[in-house]
Amino acid sequence: MIKKFVLLFFTVFTLIIAEGKIVYLTFDDVPNKNTPKLLEILKKEQIKATFFPIGNYIRKESDKDIIRQIKDDGHALGLHTMTHDAKKIYNKSKPETLVNELIQEQDLIESITGERVIIFRPPFGSFKNITKIQADQMVNKGIKLWDWNAGSGDWMHKNVPDIMKTLKQMGTGPKMVVLLHTKDITVEALPEVIKYYRSKGYEFRAWSLDEHFMLNSLKDPRL
Ligand SMILES: [Zn+2]
Repeated sequence: MIKKFVLLFFTVFTLIIAEGKIVYLTFDDVPNKNTPKLLEILKKEQIKATFFPIGNYIRKESDKDIIRQIKDDGHALGLHTMTHDAKKIYNKSKPETLVNELIQEQDLIESITGERVIIFRPPFGSFKNITKIQADQMVNKGIKLWDWNAGSGDWMHKNVPDIMKTLKQMGTGPKMVVLLHTKDITVEALPEVIKYYRSKGYEFRAWSLDEHFMLNSLKDPRL
């Protein structure tokens, strides 16, 4: 009887977890001076997130320390190109530039953390930027592409209420991928963002290959 009861309890418990909504907080354009502040908030809130560094931002030893810290804190790391220069990486006559930058960034991050990361967040999103040729090149290199479905507008907003208003307009689907950056306003808004998704019953996760799902404008299931 007790055994049955315990079993029932765990079944119900598992179902609740399985049906729970998941939010992935993602931070583009790290590392910079604000990144340690974001890491501190996430640690305090016991939340795992995903960070997309710009390769050329990783110069000094202190930049590398931040990259190591991201990994050591249990967050996921991804790729965001070396230059973040749309004219270069999305130049239609030189499609290989993008994948070359991604491989260069993979090498760089691996030299710092020992891990070869494969998830790519395209600067400015994949829409109208990534071509079929580039998608093929990424697939060949085992790289996955991940856009977002909830832009926070933290790159343009000057205050927290505007960011929250923008995020709330993105809805509360079963899996939300929230685009954030590393601005002063992002640091200010992050506790509010966390509070909001908690209040809506979301569980916070970092990207992982096991749980990867398609989120690209090409609707390419290989990415
Ligand atoms: Zn970016």
